[in-house]
Amino acid sequence: MNADVAVVGAGGAGLLAGIAAARAGARAVLLERMPRPAKKVAISGGGRCNFSNTLPPREFVREFGDPRVKLLGHALKVFDNRALIELLARHGVEGQVERHYRLYTKSGRGQDVVDALVKEFLALGGELVTGFHITGLAPEAEGFELRGSRDGHETSLRARSVVVCTGGLSYPQTGSSGDGYAWARALGHAVTPLHAALVGLKLAEDWPKRLSGTSWPDAECKLWKLDAPRGKPVVVERKEILFTHFGISGPAILDVSNAFVLAGLNRARLTVDFFPERARENLDAELLARLNAQPNCTVPQALSGLLPSRLLEAWVRQLCGVDAPLARQFTRAQRQGFVELSKNLSLAVTGTRGMEWGKLPRAESRGMNSTRARWNRAACPGSSSPARSSIWPGAAAASTSRRPSAPAGWRGRKRRSGREALSTVPRK
Ligand SMILES: Cc1cc2nc3c(=O)[nH]c(=O)nc-3n(C[C@H](O)[C@H](O)[C@H](O)COP(=O)(O)OP(=O)(O)OC[C@H]3O[C@@H](n4cnc5c(N)ncnc54)[C@H](O)[C@@H]3O)c2cc1C
Repeated sequence: MNADVAVVGAGGAGLLAGIAAARAGARAVLLERMPRPAKKVAISGGGRCNFSNTLPPREFVREFGDPRVKLLGHALKVFDNRALIELLARHGVEGQVERHYRLYTKSGRGQDVVDALVKEFLALGGELVTGFHITGLAPEAEGFELRGSRDGHETSLRARSVVVCTGGLSYPQTGSSGDGYAWARALGHAVTPLHAALVGLKLAEDWPKRLSGTSWPDAECKLWKLDAPRGKPVVVERKEILFTHFGISGPAILDVSNAFVLAGLNRARLTVDFFPERARENLDAELLARLNAQPNCTVPQALSGLLPSRLLEAWVRQLCGVDAPLARQFTRAQRQGFVELSKNLSLAVTGTRGMEWGKLPRAESRGMNSTRARWNRAACPGSSSPARSSIWPGAAAASTSRRPSAPAGWRGRKRRSGREALSTVPRK
């Protein structure tokens, strides 16, 4: 055996799985196809990495958990936000709270999180092998054979247990191309349909695309089915939005996209309220006061600061047919049209930006859980202490700060100090 535990994929999940295995005393090796680990963590949160939060775990589960799946609550019982914050702090990574409860790196460098996780893993005696593309996983009587290529040579290694952390299908340039799903299927797991999640939405309208880069911090977004335009919206989200070259994105829209995908929609209507705290009359009164105060300025000048200037200009152009009418020329009907755009902007959603642009691929994890036992038996027929596999493609982080129950074969084994370097076995 080359290792007790081989973790395939050194993203956020793989690094934490490796740390958990090494902490429990296992000879752990992390196998990463890219030259550097965790490229996605390094670019996450706009390169600043929103690595944790300050919510008590119960509240976090209530807010973000899938009520059908208990996995998140169980995972947080053994490794919660405080455990991660402490782990990173030991390696000098400080967090700063933004937007209520989100923790970003104080340094503004997501790479610091990667470096801290790698340091922790190596300090525990783990071994990181980069540039090693695993192409196949075969169960054997005592564990697994992992086949792959490194430096252009085909190699293989053996491990008692394997943790697959190869990520989902989004942002393939970071190394994750969904290899784990195929292995899961081949090994007898059920893989439920995959959908893009937390992804921008494409719009039929062209004008928002010309505002690419324009954001608004507090918008209430409602998603409506086309065949049920009245009644209850599919979802309501209130956060930041961002106009992009393909349509619309930003935290509110990423959340709306989940409901769009889960409802099985291809098209929908999105309405946006830019002033959720203000009544129409109140907004209209402010417009009137500003226009009356500066009758000889252009409308965008008179309304400056109310909304981003590019958005203001686009709407005024749309309502008046000219670029910069004077404030005194802005009619009552045009003013009311402006209020309608501000309170109830209606946009035609034509789809998501696609799986490769999602922040997470959404897999319905129930299917995976229910088949795990089946797979353990299938992989090791007749074995009383089956080799174990954990298949967590797309998992954000999974680990334990306490000692996890170690797989049979290395329970209670002391951590080795002078361990031999991983030797990959050339394939015939
Ligand atoms: C733009 C963007 C911004 C994001 N921002 C945030 C944020 O601020 N906060 C947050 O919590 N989440 C954020 N996310 C989500 C977060 O980055 C992911 O949930 C997380 O990185 C997933 O980790 P993972 O380890 O499961 O997968 P990945 O990060 O995809 O890691 C998988 C690893 O496995 C390797 N691999 C794949 N196949 C093989 C193979 N066959 N052999 C060897 N190695 C292999 C890959 O090279 C990769 O390093 C963001 C995602 C994106 C795309």
